[in-house]
Amino acid sequence: MPNTMPAVVKTGRGVGLVELQEKPVPVPGPGEVLIRVRSVSVCGSDLHIYHDAHPYSPPMILGHEFSGEIAALGPGVASRSEGDRVVSETRTHTCGRCIPCITGFPQCCTEKRPPGIGRDGAYAPYVVMPEELLHSIPPSVGFDEACLAEPAAVVMHSLVERVGIGAGDSVLITGPGPIGLLSLMVARAAGAASVAVSGTRRSRSLKLAMARDLGADHTFVSGEDDVPSRMKEISGGQGADVAVECAGSTAAIFDCFRSVRRLGRIGVLAITGGGEATVPWDEMVFRAARLTFCFSSSWTAWERVLALLARKALPLESIITHRLPLENWLDGFEALEQGRAVKVIMHP
Ligand SMILES: [Zn+2]
Ligand SMILES: [Zn+2]
Repeated sequence: MPNTMPAVVKTGRGVGLVELQEKPVPVPGPGEVLIRVRSVSVCGSDLHIYHDAHPYSPPMILGHEFSGEIAALGPGVASRSEGDRVVSETRTHTCGRCIPCITGFPQCCTEKRPPGIGRDGAYAPYVVMPEELLHSIPPSVGFDEACLAEPAAVVMHSLVERVGIGAGDSVLITGPGPIGLLSLMVARAAGAASVAVSGTRRSRSLKLAMARDLGADHTFVSGEDDVPSRMKEISGGQGADVAVECAGSTAAIFDCFRSVRRLGRIGVLAITGGGEATVPWDEMVFRAARLTFCFSSSWTAWERVLALLARKALPLESIITHRLPLENWLDGFEALEQGRAVKVIMHP
């Protein structure tokens, strides 16, 4: 094992301030394992951190969507062995005392410091994680696909466990980025009868085309198509049973809210980046729509995702557009910012 490793570090507070540095290889403490990172995915949150538009605690190594093999065990680790292929939940440093923690939702802990956000993450060959957050990668699933279990588990938790997408639902997804496309896959796996995806004109050639390849029944271009009217047309005049907001723009939020039927459900997975949004408030009251804000994932959502991956029932690999060595991280960030990439995987 080397003593140092190359790592992509957010060095301080402010825009940019990300660089490749030589860092010590971390040492696993009691109950922790050292993971040799095989694949790590660039998340939209990483870009928000780059632009200083997301909470984070510098200096820290970026990266929270990763897969790898256990390289060493810390003292007292009983449930794992060296060589195990694993992915990991991200809810590190939870307090055990706040209401989310004591009511069984530690992913919403007020003290949580996830890897790559509040502590060192996986934009590096090695990362340390607590053994109780690990999940085994099924033998038939590769590392590139497995590192997307993290965002897929967020979407699974949000749509299946919180919003309650189920068999026969007609679903609208606004925003065809990675979270929107994962929402499409999860809605399909949950038994949705029809799924429509809307995006901007810029997203048409890559992301909306990808949505169609992944089985979207309809795709709309916001600003060109009247999305709420089109949703009504394709759902017998009612509107969508469920609308899922994955864009964060005012236009998408309005489309989402106005497309849902009376007593329909809205799930929100995107942030605006500015912290505020305008919504058609009174319309939503008269429609008695149910609004669910969604954040993070649960143990059960991870297991659902991995079970579907083992059965080839969640085509996560199909949204990977770029595979890069870690030192080319900036190329990956630029490809995402310019809309040329959907998911960028790096191999540290
Ligand atoms: Zn993420
Ligand atoms: Zn807590």
